[in-house]
Amino acid sequence: MGFRLSSKDYVEYIKLAAAKIHENGDYVTALDAATGDGDHWSNINIGFEKLIEAIPVMETMSLFDEFKKIGMIMMSVIGGSSGVLYGSAYMGAAKVLKDKDVIENQDMCNIMEAMLNAIMQRGNAKPGFKTMIDCLYPAVECYKDCITKALSENETVVLVKKAAVEGAQSTAAMEAIRGRACYQANKGVGHLDPGAITMAYQIETLMDYIATKL
Ligand code: ADP
Ligand code: MG
Repeated sequence: MGFRLSSKDYVEYIKLAAAKIHENGDYVTALDAATGDGDHWSNINIGFEKLIEAIPVMETMSLFDEFKKIGMIMMSVIGGSSGVLYGSAYMGAAKVLKDKDVIENQDMCNIMEAMLNAIMQRGNAKPGFKTMIDCLYPAVECYKDCITKALSENETVVLVKKAAVEGAQSTAAMEAIRGRACYQANKGVGHLDPGAITMAYQIETLMDYIATKL
C-alpha cells in the first residue's frame, strides 16, 4: 500500500523542513546577498519558526484547515516576495484537500501542482525566470510523469527529489526575469537563486519524509 499522510504527519514534515532551513542560514543568506537583499533566509526561517509555534493547533485540524492556516501564517509573517508566494501556494493547495482525511500519492502531486499554479499566477512568472518556480515546476512535471508511467512510490520520491534539486541548480545559468536579481547588470548569471534553493530543501525533505512512510 502507498503512503497516507494525515494532518499530524504533515506537521512532522514541517518540523523536518524547519530544521533543514534553519541549518542552512549562512549559505542561503550568502546566496541572497549576492543577487538580492540578503533577507530570504531570515524571511523563510521566521515563517517556519511561527509554523512550529502553531503545531499544537495545526495537528488537530483537518488538512484543509491546516493548509489554510499554514498559508495565513506564511503570508503574514514572511516578509518579502516569498511570504505572499508561499501564502498563495498553501491557500491554493488547501482547495485540493477539501473533504480529504489523508494525502495519498495523486493528492500530493495535485497539491504541488496547485502550489505551482498559485505561485505562477501570484508572481506573474513562468519557468525559466530564475525563481523558486524553476525548482517546483520540474518537480511537478516529474511527479505527473511518474504517475502516468505508474512508477512505484519508492521510485517516484527519488525522481521527484532529483528533479527539484537539479531544477534549483539550473537557476545558476539563467538570466533573471523576476525577483531582485533582474536588477543586476548580469541578471544574476552564475549565481543560484536563493528561493529555488529553499524550495528544493522543502521538496527534498518532503520526499525523504514520504519515503519513511512507504
Ligand atoms: P524579496 O526578493 O522581496 O526580498 P525574498 O528575499 O524573501 O523576497 O525571496 C526572494 C525569492 O523569491 C527569489 O529568490 C525568488 O525565488 C522568489 N521570487 C521573487 N519574485 C518572484 C516571482 N515573481 N515569482 C516567483 N518567485 C519569485
Ligand atoms: Mg530578499
